[in-house]
Amino acid sequence: MNNKTFDSLGIGASLCRALAELDYTLPTPIQSRAIPDLLSGNDLLGVAQTGTGKTAAFSLPILEMLLADGVKAQSKRPKVLILAPTRELAGQIRDDISTYARHTRIRHACIFGGVNQNPQIKALAKGVEVLVATPGRLLDLVGNNFLALDEISHLVLDEADRLLDMGFIRDVRRIVRLLPSRRQSLLFSATMPREVSQLAEEILHRPVRIDVAPKKVTVDKIDQHMLMVDTAGKQGVLEKMLRDPEVTRAIVFTRTKHGANRVAKKLDRAGIAAEAIHGNKSQNARQRALEKFKSGDAWVLVATDIAARGIDIQGISHVINFELPHEPESYVHRIGRTARAGASGVAWSLVDPTEIKRLRAVERLTRVKLQPLDIEVAGLELPVMEADDSGRHDGRARSRSENGRETGSGKGTRRRRSRRRQPARSAAA
Ligand code: AMP
Repeated sequence: MNNKTFDSLGIGASLCRALAELDYTLPTPIQSRAIPDLLSGNDLLGVAQTGTGKTAAFSLPILEMLLADGVKAQSKRPKVLILAPTRELAGQIRDDISTYARHTRIRHACIFGGVNQNPQIKALAKGVEVLVATPGRLLDLVGNNFLALDEISHLVLDEADRLLDMGFIRDVRRIVRLLPSRRQSLLFSATMPREVSQLAEEILHRPVRIDVAPKKVTVDKIDQHMLMVDTAGKQGVLEKMLRDPEVTRAIVFTRTKHGANRVAKKLDRAGIAAEAIHGNKSQNARQRALEKFKSGDAWVLVATDIAARGIDIQGISHVINFELPHEPESYVHRIGRTARAGASGVAWSLVDPTEIKRLRAVERLTRVKLQPLDIEVAGLELPVMEADDSGRHDGRARSRSENGRETGSGKGTRRRRSRRRQPARSAAA
């Protein structure tokens, strides 16, 4: 067991003060292992997923080394470069670093594409010690002399497998060639396919390797069901589900930030108090949304995977997947939000015909076959479809009720409890 404190691992007072304010009482396993190695200057290969505390595992020792060094970065010449595959992740890392460094004078910036580059250029010109970036925008700014990488002493590649998946490998290699060869390098990846180990070999020098198993989620305590429904019908079905009196506090997951906004807005309009959180919202806006959710002012939280990381709220009765995630592991993370601390919870997934492959991937990973939720709308049936592995579906199935009325205009939701309550678990809990 690890009983070490951050202080005993070598993290100094100003960072420890911020950690205490965040209620980080003890380091996570990856933090206990990585912090001393990084402080002594080793390179690091971390096989770890988000949720393990890896951001703090690399940020804290790097911030500590910057504080010990005490020399300010020059204009356009950051000292630390953290590369992330998406702007969401980059923003999340920047937010974390900003919180950890709040009692220091360390400056940071985050640059990514898709937004006006002028504020980013201004921040770089003023000088920042820590730069978090996605590869494309970084290279643009280097190409236009708004940024130079010749003072980088610490490099972090976060989610290297996703960097590769998203086609950034050549950009990453180009960036690495611009860095001084004397530097500390860290690479984190949830998985280690051959290309990632090859990249690690090129970039890291005699690294320490740390493998952290993902947090185990006991999915067998969770009553999981799915409902086949066309994309267009999802919002209506969601609203009906949320009106079920058994749903007392729910997180709804969407794949995109825009999706989260759209769903939350429509719920609000339908009189269901919902808040959206996603990577585009500021830390403050996210905090406010979470507070509202915790206090019960909003009892539905609509979230993206990245924004939902680290959320640990008790009493979530239902997790609803408005869309299934790309990675089946995210499904496990999502539904783990219910059934916290040994309680049992309910997870429902709305699956449209294009998501059958994702559904099967989830079922393979969890070894649970998601049974259809047996749902009826007062007198009318929802446009429920049967799953079909070809990716097609029986769209006509049950789109009209037996009495021939059109679907979709019913008011309340009634389910056959006896069937729904049968958990889709393999063994008795
Ligand atoms: P990460 O794996 O870096 O995405 O971190 C997952 C979540 O755990 C984040 O919300 C962090 O704020 C939180 N976290 C990281 N380290 C600790 C710690 N030592 N104690 C409590 N929470 C932590």
